[in-house]
Amino acid sequence: MSNLKRYLAYDKSVRAIVIDATDMVQKIRDIHNLSNLATAALGRVMIVSAMIASTLKDEDNRLTVQIKADGPLGSVVVCANKSLEIKGYIQGANVELPLNKEGKLDVSKGIGMGTLTVIKDIGLKDPYIGTCELLSGEIGDDFAYYFNVSEQTPSVVSVGVLIGKDGNVAKAGGYIIQPLPDCDEKIIDKLEQINVKIPSMTTLMSEGRSIDDIAQNTTGDNNIESVYEHNVEVKCDCSIDRIKNTIIALGKKEAMDILKEQGVLEISCRFCNKKYRFNEEQINEIFNK
Ligand SMILES: [Zn+2]
Repeated sequence: MSNLKRYLAYDKSVRAIVIDATDMVQKIRDIHNLSNLATAALGRVMIVSAMIASTLKDEDNRLTVQIKADGPLGSVVVCANKSLEIKGYIQGANVELPLNKEGKLDVSKGIGMGTLTVIKDIGLKDPYIGTCELLSGEIGDDFAYYFNVSEQTPSVVSVGVLIGKDGNVAKAGGYIIQPLPDCDEKIIDKLEQINVKIPSMTTLMSEGRSIDDIAQNTTGDNNIESVYEHNVEVKCDCSIDRIKNTIIALGKKEAMDILKEQGVLEISCRFCNKKYRFNEEQINEIFNK
């Protein structure tokens, strides 16, 4: 199980969220049979998405994060809810690139240039939509930039996925630190100084530090207060009704053409690969409604 915790620091003037997402990222790697590079890219987006989803207010609120960019990894989509059930998809699931100059997976090059969009469906008529350009394609930087420009919340965002020599996810996790309104400038300066020097998230995890330790280290507050803890679970909420909408979007002619060619219309859920099959009678029924 992957575990996420939220904290308040400096007398409730700073929010910190920390997640150990090793199991979550391994699971998404297994579902889509991802390359190392795609595991790092989709894993990082899912880690930050889980942290944002933990700040949703109500049970029926939903979060969608989309990256549309021109790199070989293609587009990325992640959906999560308040209960921290999360699903993710990356177009270039098999893409692998040479390591970068630091000897790390080159997520930046894999993602390329494009946009990051965050959609929060919070039960209002129109969802909240924030969008910004990608800063580096490294994901952590891109979300920090997003929080700053789209939500006017200066934030430290750190996220990492480490693949072990055995090809499994050795460590994956992240943290977000956000000063709340009215936070003292001196505390904001202190947070910035700490986070320039702090080792990467996967290094902290490899040193055997707990989530609580990491929250203390990255905020510099030894009296940090834990306010929320929840499991994160990779889970798809696809259903026959949702897939029917895909068929309606396809159009009756296209659906019937595929049926004639292949004898059956088979649609896979792109998030969990579950297959849904439709015969002629079922397709007619969908379009007659
Ligand atoms: Zn599904």
